[in-house]
Amino acid sequence: MFEERLAQLEEYAKLGGVAKEVVEEMSVPDSVVVIKIRPKIRGKQQPFSLMGVLHCNPHPTGVRPYKGGLRFHPGVTVDLLKTLALDMTEKSALTELPFGGAKFGVPFDPKQYQEEELREITEAIAERGVLMGLLDPDQYVPGPDLNTNSKTMFWIYNKVAELNAKVRLPNVAACVTGKPVEYDGCPGREDATARGLAILLNKLLDLLSLAESRPTVAIQGFGNVGMNLAAAMLEEEFSRYRVVAVSDVHGGVYNSEGLNIKDLLEYYQTNKSLAGYPGALAVSNKQVLFLPVDILIPAAIENQITENNAGEVQARMIVEAANEAVTPKAQVILDNRQITFVPGIAANAGGVVVSYIEWSRNRGMRRHTVDINEDRIWVRCELKKIMENMLAAIFSRSRQLKLSLAQSAHALALERIGKQLAVKY
Ligand code: NAD
Repeated sequence: MFEERLAQLEEYAKLGGVAKEVVEEMSVPDSVVVIKIRPKIRGKQQPFSLMGVLHCNPHPTGVRPYKGGLRFHPGVTVDLLKTLALDMTEKSALTELPFGGAKFGVPFDPKQYQEEELREITEAIAERGVLMGLLDPDQYVPGPDLNTNSKTMFWIYNKVAELNAKVRLPNVAACVTGKPVEYDGCPGREDATARGLAILLNKLLDLLSLAESRPTVAIQGFGNVGMNLAAAMLEEEFSRYRVVAVSDVHGGVYNSEGLNIKDLLEYYQTNKSLAGYPGALAVSNKQVLFLPVDILIPAAIENQITENNAGEVQARMIVEAANEAVTPKAQVILDNRQITFVPGIAANAGGVVVSYIEWSRNRGMRRHTVDINEDRIWVRCELKKIMENMLAAIFSRSRQLKLSLAQSAHALALERIGKQLAVKY
């Protein structure tokens, strides 16, 4: 995966007039670690591999951290993490956040474990991370990703805080983001990725002069990103979208007239599954990708649209919520078919934007917020400014150089990284 992504970057760098040295720099991650952890599960110690990549940090390391999610999934490999960490390096450049790119993960299926066992595993990760000097507000700061959430981030925070009696990290709350609001988290982080994507989508339709349209939307993945996105589309600001299909790992539902999202969310809450939802057709989570809709949002996992199935996509626009859901070879096919494609490095940046707000607040004074809703509104305004600004820059570059949105997003990210590295070295 990583090699394929680098080949794509090389091509986009050429198209965007970016020096090849920048891609060379991106081709060698700063650091790759595979660490054995041995949490106690069901009374006995069990070995797990904690894998991580610190990809590239254009800022002086030790002052600005590497940022990227922690993922629990059987598909975690070093190659995947290298690719996802590269995505984070580019994403931070596009949003102009003071972070390098990183990604960590443990290859296992969390569905096979009880909550207290997941806590043991997470605490073992936190302990090793601190003792190795990795988990530190100025070194590596994790956030939620596939199969991890605010509870996981709280477990990390709690463990690091406990160990901090010895290690004495400054601003210990800033060692992890995506924490619950009541434990030094930031209001608006929970749905920031989804909201950021919806903001970007509104702006894109404006720029394409499609603001009056009432597009249909299919969403693959019904977790933090997919579910919050469907829920956001109930709000007036995003009410122009008609969500016609959603799916989780077990399958999905489709109604060409539009799903009743409020009703569907209640059904999912009660049944923990989309199966059997009345008033919609059952579809597989693959079929969701090929429905006749205006906008497709893959929000589950990587490698969903590949060179083998990109020809079957019927959507006119794809907005990548899950990093690398569309492979580089599939992107070429989509470009040739003139399907508008917004890559994940731009589309799902909302999460890291609000993580940045959380991290920077945690590095200063503890906040005392009287009105959480007022604070959330402020956070959402910041998110809107950053997402819209980023898309406008990508869009104008794409018009200027006659590039696709994906080509111009990568070229812009590389150009900014190149400038920062030139100052650093
Ligand atoms: P999540 O664990 O909350 O939800 C994942 C969803 O995808 C679930 O509904 C699951 O059933 C479904 N799914 C899992 N495997 C699947 C498969 N093989 N086919 C179809 N569906 C499948 O995860 P999330 O936080 O919503 O993240 C989703 C994607 O968005 C990930 O790729 C993640 O890297 C990316 N992302 C998340 C954030 C964030 O803030 N959470 C930020 C940026 C990017």
